Order: sequence, then structure tokens, then C-alpha cells
Amino acid sequence: MVAHRLQQVEPSRTIAMNERAQMLRRRGVAILNLTAGEPDLPTPEPVQEAAVAAMRAGHTRYTPAAGIPELREAVAAYERNRLGVEIRPEEVIITCGGKQALYNFFMALLDPGDEVLIPTPCWVSFYEQVRLADGVPVFVSTSASHQFFPTVPDLDAHRSARTRALVLNTPCNPTGQVITSDHLRSIVQWALDHRLYIVFDECYAELTFPGFTHHHVLQVVPDARMHLVTVNTFSKTFCMTGWRVGWAVAPEEWIRAMTVVQSHSTTHAPSISQWAALTALQLGRDHVDTMRRLYAERAQYLLDNLRDLPGIRVYAPQGAFYLWIDVSEWLQTHGMDDMQLALRLLDEAHVATVPGRAFQAPGFLRISFAASQDTLEAAVAALRAFFTGT
Ligand code: PMP
Repeated sequence: MVAHRLQQVEPSRTIAMNERAQMLRRRGVAILNLTAGEPDLPTPEPVQEAAVAAMRAGHTRYTPAAGIPELREAVAAYERNRLGVEIRPEEVIITCGGKQALYNFFMALLDPGDEVLIPTPCWVSFYEQVRLADGVPVFVSTSASHQFFPTVPDLDAHRSARTRALVLNTPCNPTGQVITSDHLRSIVQWALDHRLYIVFDECYAELTFPGFTHHHVLQVVPDARMHLVTVNTFSKTFCMTGWRVGWAVAPEEWIRAMTVVQSHSTTHAPSISQWAALTALQLGRDHVDTMRRLYAERAQYLLDNLRDLPGIRVYAPQGAFYLWIDVSEWLQTHGMDDMQLALRLLDEAHVATVPGRAFQAPGFLRISFAASQDTLEAAVAALRAFFTGT
């Protein structure tokens, strides 16, 4: 028997989808895959070159657990420039992706039974990581009328004497929404009033679309610093998912605690990837600006072509690369749930999507537009035919 801790962790709800997609592929069916949680673009050339140079220069050994000093300093400088706040390298840890930054923190923070508020819809690993750290995820459901971010009364209704932290993710996976500065300020102020830690996941920050602004916690409440852990990654901004490099910024004592967790688990992020990441931070703005424009254009294309479909409602993405769709009306008419709809879309339209229940939000679907224009055009045609019954 596996440990009790693991028995609470649910197997991925998308496994059934993937298995079915693979079975169809084996039968020769071309599947239009809109499930990707990663950029479809290659890692920028200079970053690849930096990795080769790092290997040749012998950067192939263990590094300090919290990361090479050069990268910690470069990340601290990146944060200082962006936020206009003094941030020291000691307040930065380099991790194996944003995922390990979060995991390190939950492991460092939580005692058994401690609660973490997680607004839903949410990315799957937040709550499973809390469970792995013997904590209890407390879901706070949100609504379209508040852009799928929690209101203070919603949060307050779920707070208990065991609440230690609150997770906030903007731009949000899966909804593609960006929180407004006023809304963020009200939540942060509330968290501080109750001495809760704020786990601020801004992994998609650089993918905020023209016309929208990403706000960092410290830009709206400078006093939040001692209660804030910011998580970011090279994965999305620099198309480096497989390289496994991310970071966290937190008060020095939390960085030290997180480094202990890391030093006994992965030891550190891959040495070669850390040197490549250093080059990524030195790239000009062109790479990010081009990518942001491309995703914004794809988002517009999907909106223009899907928003008139009967029984579904699409939410205009403001960042990241996901289109969030309310299919509850369609499901009610057809007596189905979102998982059944996703499986039917796969079987009949050959389009792979992720059902909302994977994000603790039944009645929705997530479509990723980290896919080529050809794939998106074919998927739009297939989705239109499915939903209009033609
Ligand atoms: N946070 C969010 C909201 C994400 O969507 C992801 C990746 N899907 C991550 C963190 C972690 O990504 P990585 O570990 O590759 O940095």
C-alpha cells in the first residue's frame, strides 16, 4: 500500500482523455491537440547556444542548492527593475521550474492539517502539492462576474484558525484572466489583516496581452513583503519547459527553509539549464513582445470564430495561452457532464480539450492556443461543426 499521503492525491483526470487520444492516433486518426500547457515555439537560439557553451565550459557539476550566484543575482536584478523594489540575491531561490518553487514552499510552511485557500478554477498542482505536504486545500469557488478571482467575502467564508496561506495565480491558468489592481489590493490587504501568506504565482506574467496590465502584489501593497512568496518560471516566457528552471522570491528565512527542502530532494535546478537561463534573462524584449502578440492574435482568432456558437460562452483571454469556455448550458440541454463532452469532442470532432473538472470547475472546457495556426483553424472548423450539429 502506498502512503496515506499519496492516497489522497487524485490521479490526473486528463489521463482518460490522453489514453483515448492515443488509441485514436494508433488507429490513424489525426487528433487536433488543444491540451498543451506549454509554448509551441522553440527555445530561443541564443539560449540553446548558451547551454552548449556551458557544457563545454565544464558547468556540468553540482551547483549551490539555491542556484548559481550569477543567476540569483540576475533574477534579483530582473525583479528590482520590474518592481522598483530592492531585492537581494539572498531573497531568491532558483528551482526546477515554478512547480518546485511552490512545492518547496508548501513543504517548508505546512504542518499536518494546515489549510491553504485555493480559488477555483485552479491549476491542478496547487492542491495536490498541498496534500503532498500533508496540508488541506480549501477550495474557494469564484464566478465569471468577478473574472474568476475570489472576492474578500468568499475568502473570509472559508478562513479558519488553521488557514496559513492563500494562492493567487494571475494571469490565470485555466481562465486566462488577469486580476485588476483594485481587486488584488483588496485580497492582499485582507490576507495581511489575517497574517496569511500569499503564494503569488505569476508564471504567465510576461504573457499579459496588449490592453491589460499585470500587477504584482508589491506594486499594490508594498507592505506585503514579509508575507509574500512570488513564484515565476523560465518555462513559459522563454519557451523552456523541458529545461526545468524557475524561481521564487521570498523573505530570506523562507528562502533558507525552501533551500533545505530542495537540497534534500532535487539538490538544485540542472546546472546547464541555469547557465542557459542566465542568457535568457539577457535577451532583449523582442522575443517576449513577439510571443505576446502572437498569442494575443490567436486568442482573437478563436474568440471571433467561437463566440457565436449556441449553448457555450467564451471568455476573452487577457493573458497566458488558454481559452476558458462555459459549456454548462450546452451540457444541460444534452444531459451530459464536461468529461463526457470532452470525450465526445475527441471521438467525433477529433479535438482534444481539457474538461473543467480537472481544474475543480465542472461545466467548463479549457482550450490551449499554444498550437499552430493550421491546428487552430482545423479545430475551429471541427468545433463549429460539432456545436452547430452540421
Ligand atoms: N504555475 C502555473 C499556473 C502553471 O500553469 C504551471 C505550468 N503548467 C506552473 C506553475 C509550473 O510550470 P514549470 O514548473 O514548468 O515552471
